Amino acid sequence: METLTHDIVIVGAGLAGLRAAVAAAEFSSKIDIAVISKVYPVRSHSVCAQGGTAAVLREGDSNDLHAWDTVKGSDFLADQDIVEFFVKQAPEEIVTLEHWGCPWSRTDDGKINQRPFGGHSFPRACFAADMTGFHEMHTLYGKATAYDNIKFYDEWFVTSLIVEDNVAKGLTVINLKTGDMHAFRTKAIIMATGGYARIYEFTTFSHTATGDGMTIAYRAGVPLKDMEFIQFHPTGLVPSGILITGGARGEGGYLINAKGERFMKRYAPEKMELAPRDIVSRAETTEIQEGLGLESPYGPYIALDLRHLGEEKINERLPLIRDVAIKLSGVDPVKEPIPIRPAAHYSMGGIHANIKTETPLSGFYAAGECSCLNVHGANRLGTNSTTDCLVFGTVAGEEAAKYALSNSFREIPREKILTEERRVFDEILGREGDERVSVIRDEMRRIMSEKMWVFRKGDELESALKELRNLKERFKNIRVEDKGRTFNTGLVAALQLDFTLDLAEVTIAGALPRTESRGAHSRPDYPKRDDENWLKHTLAYYTKEGPRLEYIPVTITKWPPAVRAY
Ligand SMILES: Cc1cc2nc3c(=O)[nH]c(=O)nc-3n(C[C@H](O)[C@H](O)[C@H](O)COP(=O)(O)OP(=O)(O)OC[C@H]3O[C@@H](n4cnc5c(N)ncnc54)[C@H](O)[C@@H]3O)c2cc1C
Repeated sequence: METLTHDIVIVGAGLAGLRAAVAAAEFSSKIDIAVISKVYPVRSHSVCAQGGTAAVLREGDSNDLHAWDTVKGSDFLADQDIVEFFVKQAPEEIVTLEHWGCPWSRTDDGKINQRPFGGHSFPRACFAADMTGFHEMHTLYGKATAYDNIKFYDEWFVTSLIVEDNVAKGLTVINLKTGDMHAFRTKAIIMATGGYARIYEFTTFSHTATGDGMTIAYRAGVPLKDMEFIQFHPTGLVPSGILITGGARGEGGYLINAKGERFMKRYAPEKMELAPRDIVSRAETTEIQEGLGLESPYGPYIALDLRHLGEEKINERLPLIRDVAIKLSGVDPVKEPIPIRPAAHYSMGGIHANIKTETPLSGFYAAGECSCLNVHGANRLGTNSTTDCLVFGTVAGEEAAKYALSNSFREIPREKILTEERRVFDEILGREGDERVSVIRDEMRRIMSEKMWVFRKGDELESALKELRNLKERFKNIRVEDKGRTFNTGLVAALQLDFTLDLAEVTIAGALPRTESRGAHSRPDYPKRDDENWLKHTLAYYTKEGPRLEYIPVTITKWPPAVRAY
């Protein structure tokens, strides 16, 4: 086993990881930075972001308005000091990307264009057609490769964090090409490993979104926060789940039930289709439950009608959406409505970190979707996530750089590495059990989809937890067919499944005691928001018996909780 040494190691090459790498490299040319990614960087999920990136750029809009929209959208669970910082930093990130070459869509007079988006009361989503993430990622990747002090480890897979005395000292990483495990010795680590929507089957997310970094941090003693809050996006394409951007509604698309009715008028009469995602997803689910969905061989769906926008606007603003709908559903949105229904989309929860992206573990930072800095509370507004990745990617890069410059390398205990090698190669790869990874994965997704979906009830959550714990037992008896080392995708799938099982458990364990409905956490058995008892964040700590929960208060600065109506 070889030990590699870098001042800062960033795990993840999505928007957050790349932005952090550039920020650290700009902070000091003396810092030696590694970026590890299990996929080639521009295959990170960020490249799929479609609709836009929120920032205040124009007269008529204001930081306070963006902050208020975010706080109200979060159902008052966001920490307001962090939201205020977030909205203040956002415009600078847009301009910075502009200077680095991001091809933002333009207005007729050449300014950066902005479109309306769900839950925002001003058109503030900067976009590059409907391929915003694609262009942001290529801009950042191009920028990052220009620095001599950033080294990329593409197709390397991190398996664990090495911690001693509450200090993060390094990581264990498999080079997927050779199958060898390496230790990375480092002063500071930034986790930027993205979300875990792949605990579900019907999701907008890439197959790589398995929350590895969250579980790795959790098992190393860092708490996960607010994991019960999972966002369901109202417009997942039927049957694949591929995203149809909220920008389609931002550009004026309608949601229609089987009676041809724009039903959102009964749920959010003012904002209609542009209400926040939790509200629209609940409305669609209710319509379907009441028999007002349209029928398809893949079950009932809702129609997203763009026909009135006309071919020219669809081609200019939503070219990807048209292409995707034609190729994957056989429907041309110029001529027919698109079949959609809610799909698992985003995790508001993640690794517990503060406004500086610091976690309770010294030298360990978290940014992007894997983190929970409390910007999004119980429900994230569309286009606020890419902004989050840019703003807090920058913060993480700078904070880690400061830390690395004022701390020295620590010795990595060899025993810890050997233990991890035994876990991965002997216990998981070497095991000759009779359970299949794909079978357990499908079971997990079934449980989550049936019992931990848009609506969740106490008795269902209890039975989901029981079933899931049973699956975790069964996992101990898995068998990976390919025993080789080179690009062993079977081993990667097993490791990812192992990570997601823990996350699914934490998600349900957090949802069960939260006897209220807030944002994306909707309990028909407790339909009201309960600020007296539940205006607080959930922290889940790893124990062998399952998560131990604690709660911490929400920071309120300017906006006391109020009725959330749209
Ligand atoms: C289809 C789609 C459209 C979206 N559209 C928008 C939008 O328009 N606006 C918006 O604001 N948000 C949008 N979002 C959400 C937003 O794109 C994501 O939340 C955000 O891009 C996540 O970025 P990230 O950097 O945190 O992680 P990711 O981009 O997911 O990157 C994760 C990185 O971690 C690496 N990694 C993970 N595990 C390991 C491991 N074990 N070892 C090594 N490397 C690892 C991966 O290789 C990858 O490089 C969208 C999401 C989806 C799915």
